[in-house]
Amino acid sequence: RNTSGLGNLNVSDATVSDSKNLKVKLVLLGDSGVGKSCIVLRFVRGQFDPTSKVTVGASFLSQTIALKDSTTVKFEIWDTAGQERYAALAPLYYRGAAAAVVVYDITSPESFQKAQYWVKELQKHGSPDIVMALVGNKADLHENRSVPLQDATEYAEKNGMFSIETSAKTANNINQLFEEIAKRLLLRTTSSPS
Ligand code: GDP
Repeated sequence: RNTSGLGNLNVSDATVSDSKNLKVKLVLLGDSGVGKSCIVLRFVRGQFDPTSKVTVGASFLSQTIALKDSTTVKFEIWDTAGQERYAALAPLYYRGAAAAVVVYDITSPESFQKAQYWVKELQKHGSPDIVMALVGNKADLHENRSVPLQDATEYAEKNGMFSIETSAKTANNINQLFEEIAKRLLLRTTSSPS
């Protein structure tokens, strides 16, 4: 066994550059308009700016977070914008992804249905030990909620993912979302046999 901790262990497709630094590809999935770009921009730039769009594929954004024990996780975030039109590219998009964030809008039942479709796609094409998060965004619009929290929680549990509600607008739970993913990725790394 390796003694450096994370050294030569493999977490799905996460790359371990050394014992304390993990680099992972994270893909975003979800209906158009649910707030994927806003979530990324909130996380990476600390801003809510609905007018600026993350471009597809070409320039993904990256952000590193540090956990309490001085471990860092660098996320390379791939946004899906328009991806549905390029269905043939999907396997390429999923390839190498250690984490996936499937987003719906808590005011839109259709977007929750669509999220379930994306989860199935991930189960088909993604790495078997991919860390998946089911994200109910626009939690600030709770007065117009039409997806019960419990439906999401139950669905997530059944599908081996965790669920969380966020607001890119108010920043609620955005950092927590990525921290939870980082923790789960690290758990996987340390608990895998070498
Ligand atoms: P994408 O197509 O999934 O990337 O969605 P965008 O990030 O472009 O967001 C679509 C729209 O939803 C924009 O008009 C945003 O202003 C709005 N939006 C995104 N996140 C939130 C949120 O947390 N709360 C509210 N109220 N609106 C949001």
